[in-house]
Amino acid sequence: MAKPHDRDIGMGREITRRDFLNGAAIALTGSVAGGHWVRMTGTEPSLAGVQAADYYPPALTGMRGSHAGSFEVAHAMRDGRSWDIGPDTDTGERYDLVVVGGGISGLSAAWFFRAAAGRGARILILDNHDDFGGHAKRNEFSYEGQTLLINGGTLNIEAPGQYSAAAAALLREIGIDRERYRLAAGRDRETGRPRGLGRAFFFDHETFGEDRLVTGYGRGPWSEFVEKAPLSEAARRDLVRLNDDASDFETMPELRSDAKKARLARISYRDYLIDVLELDARVADFYQSRTHGLFCVGIDAIPALFCWEMGYPGFQGMALDPTPPERLINEPGGQHGRENAARASEGGPSLRFADGNATITRLLVSGLIPESIEASSMEDVVTARLYYDRLDIAGADVRIRLNSTAVRVAHRGDPADSSEVEVTYVRDGKAQTVRAGGCVMACYNSVIPYLCPELPLVQREALAYAVKAPIVYTSVLLPDWTAFESLGVSSITAPGAYHTSLSLDFPTRLGDYQPARTPRDPVVLHLVRTPCSPGSPKKQQHIEGRRDLQAATFGTFERNIREDLARMLSGSAFDPARDVAAITVNRWPHGYAYTYNTLDDPIRWALDTPDDRPNVVGRRPFGRIAIANSDAAASPHTDAAINEAYRAVRELL
Ligand SMILES: Cc1cc2nc3c(=O)[nH]c(=O)nc-3n(C[C@H](O)[C@H](O)[C@H](O)COP(=O)(O)OP(=O)(O)OC[C@H]3O[C@@H](n4cnc5c(N)ncnc54)[C@H](O)[C@@H]3O)c2cc1C
Repeated sequence: MAKPHDRDIGMGREITRRDFLNGAAIALTGSVAGGHWVRMTGTEPSLAGVQAADYYPPALTGMRGSHAGSFEVAHAMRDGRSWDIGPDTDTGERYDLVVVGGGISGLSAAWFFRAAAGRGARILILDNHDDFGGHAKRNEFSYEGQTLLINGGTLNIEAPGQYSAAAAALLREIGIDRERYRLAAGRDRETGRPRGLGRAFFFDHETFGEDRLVTGYGRGPWSEFVEKAPLSEAARRDLVRLNDDASDFETMPELRSDAKKARLARISYRDYLIDVLELDARVADFYQSRTHGLFCVGIDAIPALFCWEMGYPGFQGMALDPTPPERLINEPGGQHGRENAARASEGGPSLRFADGNATITRLLVSGLIPESIEASSMEDVVTARLYYDRLDIAGADVRIRLNSTAVRVAHRGDPADSSEVEVTYVRDGKAQTVRAGGCVMACYNSVIPYLCPELPLVQREALAYAVKAPIVYTSVLLPDWTAFESLGVSSITAPGAYHTSLSLDFPTRLGDYQPARTPRDPVVLHLVRTPCSPGSPKKQQHIEGRRDLQAATFGTFERNIREDLARMLSGSAFDPARDVAAITVNRWPHGYAYTYNTLDDPIRWALDTPDDRPNVVGRRPFGRIAIANSDAAASPHTDAAINEAYRAVRELL
């Protein structure tokens, strides 16, 4: 696991239970149906309580991620609604462990628990979605007899060499072999130019005064790039100066390195560019969305210090002491050269499967419930059929119960000496209760205070501190990519567009899976939107971004996608009415785990790992309840999710 380094920057080290017992049952409308159907999609699965044989959520299109039917119960719980929980709700089931949350952390907790307690341990995993995997979901399209895959959330195993012993062992045990992957997964990753195409930047009319797609972004001299851009002379000069000749920015010469860093920690990168370097505001607009993929907010809410660490331009003349490299791998999904280079040099090249880290979750499920999937290796699991109707079989040792939102987790008797917990969940509008010897809460940590009102107040307050960052990964099925080929681009950065970046899927050949080869083959386009409200603190932007996501309909997404593609690809034969075959919007209002920020949180929380951080106070074990999820590490990473599961299980054992 990436360990935040210890360093000094010169400024010191710095609904009660009754509510649930007495309420009226909530009626859920629509159940899990939320998929909006567009052309070329799979078959809508049966949505009955017990999964039918044709139930196959990865093939659903429309509004996915936190789909309709997955969040209503939790929101009702937040708003004080409650459920009838009486003797008749007891299913009579008794488990050794119940896991709340079927993401990578929850599935890993089941894995670690079974490894320690032995085969035969009885485990139930509950998840509120119609599919397991949490963020690590898979989108599957079918087009003219061909299957196309892409990640609907968690993308890659980043810097695997940095994984802890427990996390690395888990990956090995489920069948992920780094060396075999390296040999099998294709050449494109080595060239860094998928399909031989390059990057482009889209200048939009609303921000830059004119719509223009400029190719050659990130390649060749900046002086050539800016010549093609619709920017004023002043903005062009500043962009070149910032990137090609930045050694003349001898900012803060009167200060020592530590003091400079302290100032950079307290100023946003946007303010640094405009107020300290006195660059043209269009230069800041050019970089505005560059931090979206990492932090889900723009450069107005990210400290200049973090941007220096990530290799952004503008600091070359400051003579700052170099950063220990661990810091660089503490944020996910870096897209830019130096960030990736730093990660790769520390943790080896990332592993990226055709369906992202859904491969991890499918392999975990394959190990936990072998009869659910006809695959055992990372090669076969990519194309293997998963039988959802076999996930929750009566009498099986391990069961995964989907469409089930936990609403109460409480000890039977005094938590101090109780040996049993009761877990109540709502499914199909009905509350049901099971009992277990212990419970791992691998769900979003901020819902735990609602589920476990018996936790001490200080712990509930700590759990409520973080706000997860909202993010959307949209998958658009295109019948071909001739338009991209004719423009010579495979990815576009577009700070003013609805989705601020888009790219053709990364071609990963593994096992029998064949991604698009020729420009006339169908392909999936991956678009990223991180709704935010520039100008506010990061946490507030996450809250407002989440509201934006809750209000946006599928129609809003579809209209924006077609309009934006028409504008960006106007120099090609792309027809937005004809050339969009299907859309899956993976909406994650509760996306990345919250990360501390030197602008808004106590600085030592962001730069060090003190025990008074809310994620540490919040994850304390309580009787037979332990707390996992990447939230417990305040780190939006797959290894964090696995590590927290490992710790939580050890606490219970
Ligand atoms: C879009 C996106 C891309 C990412 N990309 C990467 C990447 O490339 N590499 C990387 O390392 N990390 C990435 N991450 C970080 C990612 O969060 C982790 O990798 C990991 O998948 C988190 O797993 P988790 O199990 O901790 O949480 P989750 O995946 O969030 O799983 C928690 C589950 O608990 C469920 N739950 C919540 N409340 C309840 C309840 N009351 N009852 C039942 N179930 C409940 C949730 O709905 C969810 O299904 C990405 C995250 C997102 C959102």
